Amino acid sequence: MSNVRVRFAPSPTGYLHIGGLRTALYNYLLARQTGGAFILRIEDTDRSRFVEDAEADILGALAWAGLEVDEGPHVGGDVGPYRQSERSDLYAKHAADLIKSGAAYHAFDTPEDLDAMRERLKSPENPTPRYDCHTRGDMRNSLTLSPDEVQQLLDAGTPHVIRLKVEPGQTVTFTDAVRDEVSFASDVVDDQILVKSDGMPTYHLANVVDDHHMGITHVIRGEEWLSSTPKHILLYRALGWDAPTMAHLPLILSPTGGKLSKRAAERQGIPVLVKQYQDAGYEAEALVNYLALLGWNPGDEREVFDLEGLCSAFSLDRVGSAGVQFDMDKLAWFNGQHLRSIPADVLTDRALGLLKAAGVDTDAEYVARVVELMQDRISMADDLVSATGYFFEDPVAYDPTGIKKRWKDDSAELVMAYADALEAALPASAEDYEVALRDITTSREVGAGRLIHPVRLGVSGVTFGPGLFEMLAVLGPDVCARRLRKAAATLG
Ligand code: GLU
Repeated sequence: MSNVRVRFAPSPTGYLHIGGLRTALYNYLLARQTGGAFILRIEDTDRSRFVEDAEADILGALAWAGLEVDEGPHVGGDVGPYRQSERSDLYAKHAADLIKSGAAYHAFDTPEDLDAMRERLKSPENPTPRYDCHTRGDMRNSLTLSPDEVQQLLDAGTPHVIRLKVEPGQTVTFTDAVRDEVSFASDVVDDQILVKSDGMPTYHLANVVDDHHMGITHVIRGEEWLSSTPKHILLYRALGWDAPTMAHLPLILSPTGGKLSKRAAERQGIPVLVKQYQDAGYEAEALVNYLALLGWNPGDEREVFDLEGLCSAFSLDRVGSAGVQFDMDKLAWFNGQHLRSIPADVLTDRALGLLKAAGVDTDAEYVARVVELMQDRISMADDLVSATGYFFEDPVAYDPTGIKKRWKDDSAELVMAYADALEAALPASAEDYEVALRDITTSREVGAGRLIHPVRLGVSGVTFGPGLFEMLAVLGPDVCARRLRKAAATLG
């Protein structure tokens, strides 16, 4: 048992995104690999963006992906509660400590005061002036007002916020496990609001307080939080605490470059919610495998991993800092790879369920034979229904391009001869079907392809599929003969 403690800290402002799942996954992998703990913390201090069923969706998505949570709002733990809305007293206490030590201050500026400041200082070089070491001296706060005035305003219940007092002229440096040494000049860090006028902490204060009190050793999160980190480091220092190890994961990019924003994703038909992948029938393990490699690599040629394999192969030092492009085709490939590794009887059960749901009347033994042929050829479990129609029903149409290319003048006569042969010999194995076919083409001195292609077209209606003779053996001689006769009559 190591002392590694990591957390996934989503805000319940919407359903879980694939980027969020990747963050959760990397945290989970580090925890499992080191025998540490994976903690779920719900960061719900922004009540204006709160979405009622978001937490349930997040829990459901983590469970679907197989990422078991060790401590969290639904399983408890020693350092709870695990929802920030239930930890207000703790934030208030530390905000008071920060005021007392001079690391933070009260600010009474109204929205109009703030607008006026921005208007006054706006310039081409500084289009959005901030509340910081340069501007705070001209504002209404406990640095510019006398202690008596401040006390009066507080006693009168005047709306106010608490801000971090960022001292100029410092360099804030930290070591990021992904990016090595990262430095920010404190002059470009604004006096972040720590407590809002409704008394609720902002993300920054609550996040630091909780990471400390929950004993978090590694903060693994998306790159979008990198610019917040100097504020967090200053807060750790001001509170006299050690900061955890930081690791900022690379951005997920759209296939055409640029950040994979919700809009960019929609435009390119890329689902962004984990739930959408679940509903579309992706294998959870395939999505997890793909996301694991979206920013991390094992350092060798391996690509296909189950969750256990990822747990042993993962390491933070093989996470890259450059953005990575999301690729649906690659995900589909992973999905196919994971389908291949499912035990045949398990996949047969699933196929039976899917076929029954699609209204196909069949039995387990027959489906097992279809699955045996198709397992290596599908990329989605649903293909077991959508790409197997001809195993369950005679074709009602024939691919026109296939007809043009494959159906020759002698095709009808050849397939009829094959139908006769099948009915006479009643072949059972794929080899028997092949022998029967080659007997006909050899005796007529034509190439086997002359009969192979029309037979496939006549029996399945299409020009592609599993090995022809294996397919015929599953269908059986009666069905094959019937279909071949019908094709001969239809296509002439
Ligand atoms: N609540 C933040 C989010 O929604 C957490 C960021 C962090 O991990 O510090 O992503």
